[in-house]
This record gives sequence, C-alpha cells and structure tokens, in this order.
Amino acid sequence: MENNANTGKRRCLNCGAPILGRSDKLFCCGRCKNEWHNHITISEKRRRERVFTALWRNYKVLEMMLDAEEKAPEIQSLSEMGFKPEYVTGYKRFRNGRSEFRCFDISYNKTEARLYNLRRAPDFG
Ligand SMILES: [Zn+2]
Repeated sequence: MENNANTGKRRCLNCGAPILGRSDKLFCCGRCKNEWHNHITISEKRRRERVFTALWRNYKVLEMMLDAEEKAPEIQSLSEMGFKPEYVTGYKRFRNGRSEFRCFDISYNKTEARLYNLRRAPDFG
C-alpha cells in the first residue's frame, strides 16, 4: 500500500500534497495532473525547438560556405555567423582516428581550428 517509507504518505508529483485514495495515483487532483503534463510538454517543445533552430542555423551557414566554395572555413568565423559546432546530426569515427561530422546532407571533417573537406554527402556509408 505505502510507497513512501518515511511518512507512509504518497505525495503529488506536481504540488507535493499528500495523495488520498488509490495507491497508483500520482497526483492529488485532475488539475495537478494537467499542470504537470502541460509543463513537461512545453519544456520538451522548447528544447526541441532550440536544438532544431541550432541545427538549421548550422545548415544555413554550411550551405553559404558551399555556395562560396569555401571548403575549409575557420570555426571562429563560422561561430561569428551563428554556427555551433556541438550541434550535428551525425558523427562517424574511423579507425585511423579521423572523424566525420554531418549536418543533414552536408558532411565535413574538423580540426581544432577549422572544418575541412566540406561537401554534400549523399550517403554516410
Ligand atoms: Zn497536487
């Protein structure tokens, strides 16, 4: 019956009030249940949007580099254009230690200071 060894009372996930009734209840009332689920949904949505916005900005910056035929841009100057190197859609490490990064269909290799071998990659292999 009891799921809280300290008090013997179950607490609402949203407001912390003691829960009466069925032992599988997680919330004290319907309103708390709704508030809790809305909060989770909103914060997940914000996180998704933040990640997707960063990826999309990266993609646009990389496309500009490709259009300019700049195949080895410095990370510093990309960052000034809003590029965030920590956001990628794919990563592959080869036996020789070389790493390949991917932003949707654009792939590149990377040193500390710059990207290189920037190209459209039809397939990761
Ligand atoms: Zn509650």
